[in-house]
Amino acid sequence: MINLPNTPKQPLSLIYLDANATTQVLPQAAKAALSTMETLFGNPSSSHVTGLQAKQIIEETRQQAKNIIGAGDGKVIFTSGATEGIQTAILSALYSAKKTLDSSKKYCLLYGATEHKAVPESLKHWNNILEINAEVKAIPVNEMGQLDMDFIAKEVPNALIICTMAVNNETGVYQDIQLLDQTIRANNKSTAWMVDCVQALGKTDLNLANTSIDYAPFSGHKLYAPKGIGFMYVKENAPFTAFIAGGGQESGLRSGTENLPGVAALNVIFSMLNGDSKNTFTPLKTLHLFRQQLATALTQAFPKIVFNHSFENSVPTTLNFAIPEFSSKEIMDLFDAANLRVSSGSACSSKVTRSFVLDAMGLPAWQSGSAIRMSFGPAMTQQQIDEACTRIVFAAQALTQSCLTIDTDIIADKIPLEGLIQFKVGGGCSWLYVDKNTKSAIFIDPLPELTERLKTLLTCQDLNLVAVIDTHGHADHQSCRGDIAEDYLAQQQTDILGWPINSKTTIIHGKPYSYIILGDKWLVKVNTPGHTADSISLLLCDPANAATDELVVHYGFCGDLLLMDSLGRTNFSGSSAAAMFTSLQLLKSLIGTDSLICPSHDYNNEFTTSITAEISRNSLLAQVIADEIDSKQFEVQKTLMDTHIVDQSGSEIMCGALIGDCQKVSVREYTSRSLAEALEQPNNMKLIDLREPYEYALQHDKNFENNVPLTQLVEFVQQHKHNKQQQLILVCRSGSRSQLAAQALVRLGFENVGHLKGGYALHQY
Ligand code: PLP
Repeated sequence: MINLPNTPKQPLSLIYLDANATTQVLPQAAKAALSTMETLFGNPSSSHVTGLQAKQIIEETRQQAKNIIGAGDGKVIFTSGATEGIQTAILSALYSAKKTLDSSKKYCLLYGATEHKAVPESLKHWNNILEINAEVKAIPVNEMGQLDMDFIAKEVPNALIICTMAVNNETGVYQDIQLLDQTIRANNKSTAWMVDCVQALGKTDLNLANTSIDYAPFSGHKLYAPKGIGFMYVKENAPFTAFIAGGGQESGLRSGTENLPGVAALNVIFSMLNGDSKNTFTPLKTLHLFRQQLATALTQAFPKIVFNHSFENSVPTTLNFAIPEFSSKEIMDLFDAANLRVSSGSACSSKVTRSFVLDAMGLPAWQSGSAIRMSFGPAMTQQQIDEACTRIVFAAQALTQSCLTIDTDIIADKIPLEGLIQFKVGGGCSWLYVDKNTKSAIFIDPLPELTERLKTLLTCQDLNLVAVIDTHGHADHQSCRGDIAEDYLAQQQTDILGWPINSKTTIIHGKPYSYIILGDKWLVKVNTPGHTADSISLLLCDPANAATDELVVHYGFCGDLLLMDSLGRTNFSGSSAAAMFTSLQLLKSLIGTDSLICPSHDYNNEFTTSITAEISRNSLLAQVIADEIDSKQFEVQKTLMDTHIVDQSGSEIMCGALIGDCQKVSVREYTSRSLAEALEQPNNMKLIDLREPYEYALQHDKNFENNVPLTQLVEFVQQHKHNKQQQLILVCRSGSRSQLAAQALVRLGFENVGHLKGGYALHQY
């Protein structure tokens, strides 16, 4: 483990910077809510005193809401939240429009391209349900996130509704409501206009009655009230259809017994917004200073940071940024370890890794894929901002000490890298092997996204690069081999894949193979055509032993010859299934069935494999290994297998068809309690924290004293392959990395592996 200069001795308190997702309920609001549950608990519809008191809270709060949003003669209706308000607005507008549709006209429903998903999804839903069949169209935005007024002017004459947002939830960008008003009404006097005001409340002044806005939904939980309460503004005389019918509450506009605790909490929040409570919110001017202070700390910590929006046209409570060479997931993991909650600006599923909001603004793909959002509300204090800034700098130091960034000012005890490190980008894998004693290194299949990271690592770790090699010319991605070689191996003469041409030759099984030396190991090159004609495999092994004529192979980097749950595809123009058949047989004869195979793709998060682990689920491979089929039969079956290749994302060319359904093995799951019980027993357990060293350094549980970052899991497997009985319990941030690693270990024959379900998130330090 690395030692940070100021490693915190106490668990770090929580700093919450994700207010645009939701906020904590302020104590004053919680108290008010509690009192309506314990004391003023009446049903507002009851005519006795307890009911009248409840009704009074509701009406007082409604009046406050009207004042705050400048509702004039418009109505304020309490709802369960903004999504309900959005439904109500869209249903009301479309149901009314349906009555006067002209079947000879083409209609559209307009929404801003950066709108919260609740808006386009609800438009599509009600368009369908009401059988309106209008075209649902996104209004483009420019690089500042501002709506395209020309597009609106052109399209709005045919619009049954136009939906825009006051403030964007990812970037804080606000729209010019007056300009929108003029543009819409100059071209269509009567179309319905909904403005999603969720992120505007408490952060901008609103005067809705002065505009032609028909509907405006709001949500309580974005501004310190509980989840489940919201309200909506409806302009006087705007069409209205109740979304929920029933007992006639809210003057029949929204039935259902009112959420009195939620309304009481809103009442307190509104008082604070009005400034008539002694606990008023931080003024906007100070919130601007807070954002500037955070931006300065971020820039100091990450000098290459890029902000994804202008501070000129966004509310002061949101910052959206990207740090070159770091994915949003990595930065979120880092900040989470520093107990600093932020959100990724993108949906972090395995495939969807971009923010549609930033994409709509036309930002470069990497900015959208690396987006991080920090957001806070008007209850933020100077002390919290100061602490957040300290934490940001501290987190950046952890990255520097992990050699992921270079800061010449920090004299850090860097973690020396050794052994095999696996890097993944999408389904692709790059491999770095470092010999600790000689500090020599090789890169295999370097992905272009990793160029800067690899260069930083080399420089920071003071490594001596021996070779950078591709296992074949990749069809699905570029290689950054040339770029790295130019900087570190300018004098080296290589073949087209990067193999040094003056390397030595050895004889194995009577045939010559060229090899290079890496510390006390050799890297042997083997031609293994099939997937492509130029495919090679690289075997990291002990120096060949002439006496035994057997190789002791630690890792086989075999490109796309043999993949987890698959064989590389052989339907490219230069592919040959017959050649692959021979290559597989050769591979087996050289590396045996138990050496670890490190392919250039890992589509299913399985990290590594071996022939033994594969033949149980890959019957074609099993037949080759058992010499049960000949080359011709292999070709027939392989052609059939390749027909199952599905290019999963459209953007990624799959290099092999997954054979099975990648069924995950089940692994033992520990809860905090069962782990504590297991720890009390005499045991020989190894508790492993799988997070990256920069996360581990910031904070970890004292019981998890082994840090095996997921990027070094394959090295762990290699080192522990003779001790597969030992009990291992894995942990990570949320339980997802530990589950994947545990499944991989079980698949590779480890007998006693479990993981802490829910990770540190559900288990206190
Ligand atoms: N609109 C915006 C801009 C939002 O940020 C959100 C919440 O994320 C919603 C709508 C949905 O709000 P609610 O959670 O109250 O349904």
